[in-house]
Amino acid sequence: MSELKVLIVGAGLGGLSLAQGLRARGMSVAVFERDASPWVRPQGYRLHLDADALNAAREILPADLHAVFEATAQYTEPFTTILRTDLSVAKRLPTLDEHGEGVWPHDDGPAAHANVDRATLRQILLTGLDGIVHYGKKLDRYESTPEGVTAHFADGSTAHGDVLVGADGIRSAVRAQRAPHCDTVDAGITAIYGRIPMATAEPLVPAEALTDIFTVATDERKVFLGLGSVRFPSSPAEAAARFAPNMSLRDQDDYVVCIVGGRHEYFPDDEGRLRTCSGAELRRTAAETLQRWPSAASDIVRSGDPSAFFLVEMYTSVPTALDAPTNVTLLGDAVHAMTPTLGRGANVAMRDGTLLARALGEVSAGRATLGEALTVYERDMLAYGFAVVREAAQTGVRRMAQNPLPE
Ligand SMILES: Cc1cc2nc3c(=O)[nH]c(=O)nc-3n(C[C@H](O)[C@H](O)[C@H](O)COP(=O)(O)OP(=O)(O)OC[C@H]3O[C@@H](n4cnc5c(N)ncnc54)[C@H](O)[C@@H]3O)c2cc1C
Repeated sequence: MSELKVLIVGAGLGGLSLAQGLRARGMSVAVFERDASPWVRPQGYRLHLDADALNAAREILPADLHAVFEATAQYTEPFTTILRTDLSVAKRLPTLDEHGEGVWPHDDGPAAHANVDRATLRQILLTGLDGIVHYGKKLDRYESTPEGVTAHFADGSTAHGDVLVGADGIRSAVRAQRAPHCDTVDAGITAIYGRIPMATAEPLVPAEALTDIFTVATDERKVFLGLGSVRFPSSPAEAAARFAPNMSLRDQDDYVVCIVGGRHEYFPDDEGRLRTCSGAELRRTAAETLQRWPSAASDIVRSGDPSAFFLVEMYTSVPTALDAPTNVTLLGDAVHAMTPTLGRGANVAMRDGTLLARALGEVSAGRATLGEALTVYERDMLAYGFAVVREAAQTGVRRMAQNPLPE
């Protein structure tokens, strides 16, 4: 098969990594995204990247975009710092203690860790995909035959290709058809996520929150406050102007994220009240959840930009096997969603996208059949993906009283 046409459902970090990897190989690809544009809903701020995403970025991005990526990534000290509730440092855990195996080996020496801005990373991954990413295309269902796959969208339109990839996140419509037995379950945790301008945060947060991957304080209820910085070595606009002048990149200032979370019972949510709260109300709820702590913790939360706070309901996939693939496969949160305790979900999604691009490249070059390529991809992806899901759940049970994974 030489003219392989790939349909990707979902323009998240995983789907876009695959699209970039296929574009780099000159292959035919179309991405279908349900949202009306990349900016219609909050998708988070800081992302921790490890060797998975750093290797992926190096492999899939053209040199100018990779230079922008590097210029906007804050390489951190390889520690997660554990704080007491008065925000004094209890210990700094070397990251290799927590994730060693399962991380894609780094080609150039020891594993590195970076904090990046999610919106900036998304814009980098979207660059060069004009005419490839189609917005306002919500997949309803697909039909798979030996001749190919037809995607049916909510607006009544269809698209036909040789292979369809479900990169459509934790509520994946593709998974519902391809692997209906593949479950996601409530992790038992509510969290509120916010963002504080760096100039406001700097005098309030411990120094480690500005240098380490992540900093977290937990009380006896396992209610937690997490802090992580994004300090751009070059601002996004400067980096784009210097390395990729034709690229349009929204500018941003440095910031610190805060996340306050714990078991549902600590976030009273009569009839889903939190889902309808404004950012300012969520900020107040987050600060009140820390009211038993010395005031420094809630002072940090209260200093956040009120419009930036949003609710995070944590779910996890349950590791399972998939039936043998034909011409439909999955990547990222669509198959191995995890709680964010390790900061690894996007890393693994980008790794999936990169490895699937390699596999489909083999098909396009006539060195493998589609069935062979997808079988190897799914075997490897399920092994490392679900290993990280299990590790994230174990850490979640220990750190925040997450529900254990069902047997
Ligand atoms: C609070 C929090 C912090 C996190 N921090 C980190 C971190 O530091 N590091 C890290 O690696 N990971 C982190 N993660 C996890 C990470 O956000 C996800 O694992 C990652 O975004 C998954 O990427 P994806 O492309 O698989 O899915 P998504 O990013 O969910 O993208 C899926 C896309 O598919 C679209 N879509 C959905 N349904 C349809 C449909 N029917 N038709 C068409 N399109 C559809 C969606 O609109 C979306 O754009 C964090 C998660 C949370 C909640």
